Order: sequence, then C-alpha cells, then structure tokens
Amino acid sequence: MAIAAIELGHRLADELPELALDWKATPVPAPAIVVANSPLASELGMDPEWLLSDEGAAVLAGNEVPESARPVAMAYAGHQFGNYSPRLGDGRALLLGELVGPDGSIRDLHLKGTGRTPYARGGDGRAMLSSMLREFVHCEAMHALGIPTTRALAVVTTGEAVQRSRVEPGAVLARVAASHLRVGTVEYARWLDDGEHLAALVEHAIARHCPDAADAERPALALLAHTVEVQADLIAQWMNVGFIHGVMNTDNTTLSGETIDFGPCAYMDRFDPKTVFSSIDHAGRYAYGNQPAIAQWNLTRMAEALLPVLDDDRDTAVALATEVLEGFVLRYQASWAAGMAAKLGLSSVTADSHGDLFDGLLTLLAAARADYTSTFRILAASLRGQDAPLRASFPDHVVELDDWLAAWHAALGDADLSTAADAMDAVNPVYVPRNHLVEAALDAAAVDGDLTVFQTLLEHVTHPFEERPGSEAMAAPAPDDFAEDYITFCGT
Ligand code: AMP
Ligand code: MG
Repeated sequence: MAIAAIELGHRLADELPELALDWKATPVPAPAIVVANSPLASELGMDPEWLLSDEGAAVLAGNEVPESARPVAMAYAGHQFGNYSPRLGDGRALLLGELVGPDGSIRDLHLKGTGRTPYARGGDGRAMLSSMLREFVHCEAMHALGIPTTRALAVVTTGEAVQRSRVEPGAVLARVAASHLRVGTVEYARWLDDGEHLAALVEHAIARHCPDAADAERPALALLAHTVEVQADLIAQWMNVGFIHGVMNTDNTTLSGETIDFGPCAYMDRFDPKTVFSSIDHAGRYAYGNQPAIAQWNLTRMAEALLPVLDDDRDTAVALATEVLEGFVLRYQASWAAGMAAKLGLSSVTADSHGDLFDGLLTLLAAARADYTSTFRILAASLRGQDAPLRASFPDHVVELDDWLAAWHAALGDADLSTAADAMDAVNPVYVPRNHLVEAALDAAAVDGDLTVFQTLLEHVTHPFEERPGSEAMAAPAPDDFAEDYITFCGT
C-alpha cells in the first residue's frame, strides 16, 4: 500500500547516520485506534479523519510505512540512577520521521511499542495499553498546564497481549516532540569517540532548537547555555505544579526542554519534598525536592560530553562549561519565584523579594500535610471572602496560618483582591492527573475495556483551570490508604 497521506522528513537520519539506525517495526495483527488527539492532528497539518482511518492505525502501529518516511531507532547513552550505560537507544521505539507543520516548525513523529530493535537488550519491544494511556494523559495534562512536553497523538492497540505484572492489551503510543535529542544523545556521540560526531550533533541540535547559537563565538557552548536555560525553566514549572518525574535519567532529559517519558511520575497530593513515587528509586534520588539538583547534575554530564568541542584547551573548556552550568541555579530560582508569585496573585517578583513568603507557605504545607494543588485554589477563594475551606485545611496550625496570611496580604498590598484571585485561578489548576484517578482510569481501560473513565479524566485535566460543578472528586487528593501504599512500577 502506498501511503502519501503524511509527509515525513528524515534530516536526523541523513545528517547523523551513526545516531540513527534504519529499522522497521515488527508488524502487529490488528491495529485499532483507541484514543486520538484530533486537535493536535490539525495543529500538525494532518487530516484528523485520516488519523481515525484504518490506514492511520496501520501507520501509527508501525505496520505500514509512509512513502516519504525512513524510520530509525535512535541511539543514545544514559546515566540511569547515576550509573552510566554507554549504549541504550530506542529498544522498542522508532522515529518515523519529521513533520513540518503549517507554521514551518519541525516536529518528530515517534512510535513507542513497535517491537524489538537492536537496542532492546532484554526487553520484548512492546508496551502495554495502561502505560501508553498513562503517558497520553500526562502529556496532554502537562501541555494544558502550559508546561513544555512531548505530545500524545494517538494510542493504538495491537491485537496482541503483553505480559507484565498482569496480562494486558499491547499498544503503541504515537507521540510528537520538538525533537528526541537527549543529554544521553550527546553522551553517545561523545562515546563514539571522535569530535566529528559530536560536532555534527551540535550543528543539528542548534538548527533544531536554538538557531541563533549558530552565530555565537562558540556554538557548542551556546547550545549548552540554551539547554541549561530551558531545563531550568522546565524544572521550575514542574516544581510549581508539584510534579515528580520519577526517572530523571540523562536519557530522559531533552535538549528541547520538553518533558519526556512519563513513567512512574506523580503530582504530589500532601506536600512533602521527600516524596518519591518510583518503586525502583530506593535511595530517593529522584524525590520531588531533589529535581533541580538532579537536572543540574544531568546538564553537567552534557557539559562533560561536550568538552572536546568547547575548546581545544581542556582547562579553558572546563572553565567555560563551569560558568554556564553555574547559571542554572539563578535561572531556576528566578523562574521558580516568578511561578510562585503568579500562583499567589503577586504581579511581579525578584528572586529574593518574596523568598520568605514562599518558604513560609511550603513549611506550613509540609507541617499540615496539606494538599499541594488545591491549597492554591483555596487561597484564591479566601481572597473572595470564602474562608472556611482554608480554615479546614489547616485545623492544627491556626497561629502559623494567620501569621502567614498576614505576610501574604502585606505582599499583596493594595492590589484588588478579587482581581488577584482571578489571576491565581488562571494559573492554579483544579484538576491534575492524580495517580489514584489515573490508576482507576487505566484499570478500567486495560482490564475491563472501558475507556469512558479515561476520557472523563482526560477531559478534566486538559481543561485544568475550569472548575466543574459535580466534579469535586476529580479535584480531591487520594484517600490516605491509597497515597501511603502507592508506588508506580517501572514495568512499562
Ligand atoms: P524508558 O524507561 O522508557 O525511558 O526506557 C529506558 C530504556 O529501556 C530505553 O533504551 C528503552 O528503549 C528501553 N526499553 C524500555 N522498555 C523496553 C521494552 N519493553 N523492550 C525493549 N526496550 C525497552
Ligand atoms: Mg526514556
């Protein structure tokens, strides 16, 4: 079958052949679309009808390859939980190609769960429906929150069963990203051990993500600086919404600054910076409160890998890289503080002008084990004179709460309180994909074949700021017995 419905470029495969291995998906018996993202398809200049067609399902499951495409498995390395693996790569995924949108932007179309590749190691190359639906709902919720992320285009079931802790329908996730270049890609190019691959990768990444860097005195340093900035901003936004990625390995850290690979991730319910959600993260390396430091650690691995193309003199290269890496903390703090200011209805902020106010709130939240997400909506309501929910959230910390409220009102100054409350509601979500809701939706879909729970959840979290009467349960934290026992397993 000749498929010309979508046009796909293959610049990565052409320009970086050592990083892109030509490969084909293992065909599956019965591809069927279970969730499709029509608005995203339109944004990409793709026909939403095609997405829902048999041909669309066949292409997104990897069974059929569009004429223009040259699918590849990408090679990358990675520091996983601190340990270096020189050769990871797409073990069960393919970059189908690059889409050029109506606005000229280039985005990768990538399929996850398309069978074993030479990078599969012990894996079966497949993905289970629940994991691909989890990634779908998290991608789209994160996007709706205004945070950079890969996007989910569709989930296709394969007609095969996949065995993990339970037997489930197999599935493929079609996702879209600014690119799939990772810190681990840079580490891999360095491991190939000749400056040529590194230089070619730098040139490709710059063209893709920060074209102005091509004119810099040291383009590779400018690429590093760009990645430091976009990652600092990204992690600040995660922290602002209480998101825990769970597996911040260098192969899950993008050069684009987009969130990628939602596995054992979570939105915190009760505030505790030590919160960990991954069953394999025994040491708490990727706990909520560690995320900024881990991002900087990952960027340091990128800088090390880039040293040969930063300067011929190693000491000079190290000095240049160090200076750029040191910029992470200031950028992160400013970005985080701006986010917190907006969450509290304060119109402007410098990094240290409200530091005590922000820290005071987090201390109070931690002491009261208050729900992170809903607290900000409850605070906005208090500005409209609705005090009861706030009082109910901090029953045992009345004095501390009153002290903090006095400081907050002082910071608000003579701002109009109802305007401030509206501004807060525009940035503080009511609905985030809390794990107890996500798990219920995935169980219904993968065990009972019922997608309605998933669709309802998706509808709420993709309109996170619109409070819906009757949906109170969607906004509430998990019951204690769920939160205390819950960990997400990495068996994806
Ligand atoms: P992830 O946890 O999805 O970021 O994947 C980490 C690495 O393991 C990547 O190299 C994946 O391609 C690979 N991988 C994960 N699951 C599988 C699987 N079922 N089969 C083959 N490779 C896999
Ligand atoms: Mg990954």
